Amino acid sequence: MGMLVVGSVGYDTVWTPLGSGTDLLGGSATYFSISASYFSSVSLVAVVGRDFRSDDIALLKNHGVNTNGLEIAPGKTFRWSGRYNPDDVNLRDTLDTQLNVFSEFEPSLDREQRNQEYLFLANIDPELQLQVLNQMERRPKLVAVDTMNFWIDSKKPHLSKVIELADVVFMDEGELRSFSEEANLVKAAKVIMAMGPKTVVAKQGEHGVLLFEHGSVFAAPAYPIERVVDPTGAGDSFAGGFMGYLASEEDTTDTAFRHAAILGSVMGSFAVESLSVEKLRSLSYQDVVSRFRDFWMLTNFNPLGSEENLPWQTKNDAIYQ
Ligand code: AMP
Repeated sequence: MGMLVVGSVGYDTVWTPLGSGTDLLGGSATYFSISASYFSSVSLVAVVGRDFRSDDIALLKNHGVNTNGLEIAPGKTFRWSGRYNPDDVNLRDTLDTQLNVFSEFEPSLDREQRNQEYLFLANIDPELQLQVLNQMERRPKLVAVDTMNFWIDSKKPHLSKVIELADVVFMDEGELRSFSEEANLVKAAKVIMAMGPKTVVAKQGEHGVLLFEHGSVFAAPAYPIERVVDPTGAGDSFAGGFMGYLASEEDTTDTAFRHAAILGSVMGSFAVESLSVEKLRSLSYQDVVSRFRDFWMLTNFNPLGSEENLPWQTKNDAIYQ
């Protein structure tokens, strides 16, 4: 089943303890599309300026991403720059955000795009996310949304409207706290679920993700990586694996969501191993399968059988009788 994504496509300048680069291919929709392309077909809606490199369009096309909705407008491509904390790569400062051609962008979906069953509203102006959502011919099977503090701080009312219409919300833990004004993540997720979404995915960087649904929580760890070169785009790559898997399986049950969370973690783990999309763009099917198997080894343990007790229970029973 096909998927539509709207989000940023742009150039990033990043500094991390293990590398830095200027005008690297980035953007929420870029990471998402490349990651999701390993699982399902993806149509991209975004805008770039005339300075966007043709190689980068070719890269997306080589991954089977449908770029008919990637408009090339007069002006400069979106730019973002950030610096990661040398003592804790989970922390970063945004140094600059230039919306450039995105500030004038008015997406207009064609018939095929309006009929996609899976919609991902990647991190971008919530007004644009709403414009895309409102153009869908019928309610997609699954609508997911991601965002960032930049938009929580500047456009919370619009973002709230998008969230009310979504099934799944992806936010990192800081964004969740800031949006919900709740310090506790469980309470923060409940605030979002009370607005309408059935699922909240709380991203916790190197600590993995928590998948909150009504009445249940599932934890997926982050794969332990020795050389985290650049965490930029890990969240978008996670969402790409997550949504790409669900779209390919055409399954939106809780079991499929848990599987999707592990595949999201697999794709996020590849994204951080290089600057920009270098690693993510060059994966084989075997790479993905093998890391998926590694995740099983990472998390697998024998559950207690219904008649089984932990070994020390008999001892404790004796003490407390
Ligand atoms: P992540 O590391 O998952 O938060 O995503 C980083 C990507 O988001 C980078 O490649 C940036 O180009 C993009 N980005 C940063 N700020 C914004 C923003 N305000 N709106 C849209 N995309 C952004």
